[in-house]
Amino acid sequence: MVARKRAAATTSKGPAPGRRAVAVLGATGMVGQRFIQLLENHPWFEVVEVMASDQSAQKSFGEAISGRWKLPTPVPSAVRGLKVKGPSDLIRSRILFSALDAAVAGELEEHFARAGHLVSSNARNHRMDPDVPLLIPEVNRDHIALLDRQRYAKDGGGLITNPNCSTIMVALALAPLHAAFGIESVIVTTFQAASGAGYPGVPSLDLIGNVVPFVPGEEQKMERETQKILGRVTQRGIEPADFPVSAHCHRVPVVDGHLEAVSVKLREEATLKRMKEAFHAFRPLSKLGLPSAPDVPIEVREEEDRPQPRLDVDRANGMGVTLGRLRPCNVLDWKFDVLGHNTIRGAAGAAILNAEILVQAGRL
Ligand code: NAP
Repeated sequence: MVARKRAAATTSKGPAPGRRAVAVLGATGMVGQRFIQLLENHPWFEVVEVMASDQSAQKSFGEAISGRWKLPTPVPSAVRGLKVKGPSDLIRSRILFSALDAAVAGELEEHFARAGHLVSSNARNHRMDPDVPLLIPEVNRDHIALLDRQRYAKDGGGLITNPNCSTIMVALALAPLHAAFGIESVIVTTFQAASGAGYPGVPSLDLIGNVVPFVPGEEQKMERETQKILGRVTQRGIEPADFPVSAHCHRVPVVDGHLEAVSVKLREEATLKRMKEAFHAFRPLSKLGLPSAPDVPIEVREEEDRPQPRLDVDRANGMGVTLGRLRPCNVLDWKFDVLGHNTIRGAAGAAILNAEILVQAGRL
């Protein structure tokens, strides 16, 4: 029998010409794996470094992820042989995508930003910092200006964040309505996929055939983050949008895709036709050529039973949100359902799009 030769793990390598070197922090986790998958053939970015905890460090990524890779596509061959770095190892890439556990993300991300890296993070730790952009490029790319006064932004580095995986769907859906009619108040009820809790997440016996009406910390995040995202940049920082949001969060036995039922009261009177026009016209990134930006960020479905996670979650490679059942509400003015992919549009894909808009803006 011929022994198979194992490729030696490499600490890092240079990117191909025309692509920027990037590192993925927390690369072995649920969101980290999504980063690795989504960046495999990215035209601008190339993963040359991966970092995780000491239990994964010093192994090749292939070894560290063995038995843990949860995506249907294979581990990219270019990343399989990279040696996983630990939290105290030197990282050389300018752009870092963070999928770090929240227990360690706060300190590590701040450390890397101060060392001149641009950190695009999924973690909750810095989202509400007054000088950190909580960014959805379609909605609030003017918030990037916060980087100019950010306390972590040293030597061209800095920290940007993407919203919680439930917030991003409702904030995207509300943005065109807020711009066209003004929002008075919002009630949102979520049906959140199991993958949003990381791996192994909620024990299967708690979730199969069941609904858990509690997702720790989620309701507060949705309520506060939505106001920051739809807020205005002022001299003193972000002035949050002044409408109240009430969130009810539930974990459901779905693998991927957060579905949200939204009721909204508007400041100005709207018709169904005008609201649909506002959603259809919402193409703020269409001329920028960003690789991960969906052509149609919000697709409005006319069927009475859409969107559904199984049917709609992968629209636009998981970067598009799908909205349906737009109809009058007897308590507030209007109601609808909105769906998005929680680990793509709600996590890794969102952070990649955030880095793309910084490149487009000439900041990277
Ligand atoms: P996860 O599966 O538990 O992965 C956590 C990652 O952090 C792993 O790579 C782990 O490495 C690494 N890590 C843990 N302790 C570390 C340390 N001391 N130093 C360096 N690395 C360390 O979690 P996840 O679901 O991917 O979530 C990652 C982050 O994204 C969290 O902050 C989460 O709140 C946020 N987020 C998740 C979702 C979602 O849908 N899942 C959506 C939005 C945001 P080892 O494998 O070596 O332990």
